[in-house]
Amino acid sequence: MGSKTKIIRTVTGLRTQVNKWKKLGKSIALVPTMGALHAGHLSLVRLAHKKADIVIVSIFVNPTQFGKNEDLSKYPRTEKQDKEKLEQLDVDLIFAPNADQIYPDGFSTSIHVSGVTAPLCGQSRPTHFSGVATIVAKLLLQTQPDIAIFGEKDFQQLLLIRQVVSDLNIPVKIIGGPIVRESDGLAMSSRNTYLSEHHRAIAPLIYKTLKSTAKKLTNGEQPGKCISEAVKTLTDAGFKIDYLELRDSKKLSSFNSAIDQPARLFIACNLGKTRLIDNIKVTPPK
Ligand code: AMP
Repeated sequence: MGSKTKIIRTVTGLRTQVNKWKKLGKSIALVPTMGALHAGHLSLVRLAHKKADIVIVSIFVNPTQFGKNEDLSKYPRTEKQDKEKLEQLDVDLIFAPNADQIYPDGFSTSIHVSGVTAPLCGQSRPTHFSGVATIVAKLLLQTQPDIAIFGEKDFQQLLLIRQVVSDLNIPVKIIGGPIVRESDGLAMSSRNTYLSEHHRAIAPLIYKTLKSTAKKLTNGEQPGKCISEAVKTLTDAGFKIDYLELRDSKKLSSFNSAIDQPARLFIACNLGKTRLIDNIKVTPPK
């Protein structure tokens, strides 16, 4: 445990190393991140070790997925600590590209995905998913892994990535990892560090409300009513709700009548200036 993990910052360097491993017949997993690593990210690394011989973690704070008034400049950058954490987990390689390796002068391509990107975060962050689709496609093509692992914490992002990989015939298997939570239920996020003490104390109400609402839905209670109650609970506690919506888990379509297929309840809300997202599986009523 804890062997030295190499950091590579160029695509040429990355490809040279990956090709050496491929020639030895090793399978390769990529875990893309924006750094500021927490136990959620590390769970994806552990999953990657179970699925492939070699684990590569990329760290790149991707400017194109941040909106104009979002938190790009203050997003936590903690490469030294990230490296230590990844070394502990025997990650084989960190790909932390210089910005010009991702967006060289004259870069002019952007991937637009319709369908799954339309609702939820697509409404409030109109340029976000094009930024995500473009960076993930680039990282996959730069690395050419056998598998790539993403968290269900960003469930809409996971669906978008599956869509891009399928539509563009990128030869990689996409695997989703479950959401890792703090002991009080708050979904781990690099943005949790922005929360004031007061907001951190009330933040677990998000998951508590999701859980109780999912239970009511499974018990056959009417979705409109359950969701209004949940919005009221959170709003009364000081949350500003962006959305709280029930959607099917494949296409993110809304339900016109009964919940008749696998569903999830999705939330995005603000606590002060911090935007938090979460989601939970909803088992359809029997
Ligand atoms: P990020 O660094 O926020 O871009 O996240 C990198 C990857 O880690 C994405 O696939 C996220 O969905 C995943 N991730 C972030 N937080 C969690 C969490 N709490 N549990 C599981 N996966 C997570």
